[in-house]
Amino acid sequence: MIELSVVVPMYNEKDNIARLHMAITHALAHRVESYEIILVDDGSTDGSAEQLDQLALADPNVRIVHFLRNCGQSAAIASGLKAAEGRLIALMDGDLQTYPEDIFDLMPYMADYDFANGTRVRRQDNLVRKVSSKVGNGIRNWITGDRIKDTGCPMKLFKREVAGSFTLYTGFHRFLPTLARMNGFRVIEVPVRHRERVAGTSKYGVFNRAFVGLMDAIVIGWMRRRSFHYQVREE
Ligand code: UDP
Ligand code: MG
Repeated sequence: MIELSVVVPMYNEKDNIARLHMAITHALAHRVESYEIILVDDGSTDGSAEQLDQLALADPNVRIVHFLRNCGQSAAIASGLKAAEGRLIALMDGDLQTYPEDIFDLMPYMADYDFANGTRVRRQDNLVRKVSSKVGNGIRNWITGDRIKDTGCPMKLFKREVAGSFTLYTGFHRFLPTLARMNGFRVIEVPVRHRERVAGTSKYGVFNRAFVGLMDAIVIGWMRRRSFHYQVREE
């Protein structure tokens, strides 16, 4: 079995592809027994598709999933998780705002936990972003009844059973730690580094981040309150 799958949703990230591949490869080489990098092209229109295919030809550790059209980050993540064969699965964004080496800061927690969610320390985004994220996390936790500091942190590591427990809908990528906990898994938050986007542009504005997520939080909160964990008596 493959030790680690790194799953990355990619939408129009042409200028990040080479750097991303190099950073992940450099981080993982000689540190894990076997790995795969699953890059999900979420219907890019900037020429990413061809570049990704070339990468897969050159590196047998790379696998590409191409969407016919843009379906959103949650869909891209869902298909990446489905394709992943690793015992552990790391999630990160394609813009390298987090550092692939930090996967190894999360890894030791897999002994006692099933899901390690990064928290961005010294977050390198503009003030509007940081404030709206803080408010967003507060409101989400209030609605969902959870207590996750940085649910949107792109860097996450979890066991494949956790991935198998997810039923994702659009927008749910913002609630993965809450969903994991709801499904009975042990979740911990671990600080990771963060930096500015080097190339390309963000796919979200303040509005479609904070307010669209509100509706989703209500649904997640409902699911959490309605989730059950029964135990069957052994006969
Ligand atoms: N992404 C995607 N599909 C989308 C929007 C975004 O696959 O419809 C990817 C994007 O390419 C990036 C990650 O999801 O790898 C996070 O997006 P972005 O960096 O724009 O979000 P931000 O960091 O600004 O919150
Ligand atoms: Mg980003």
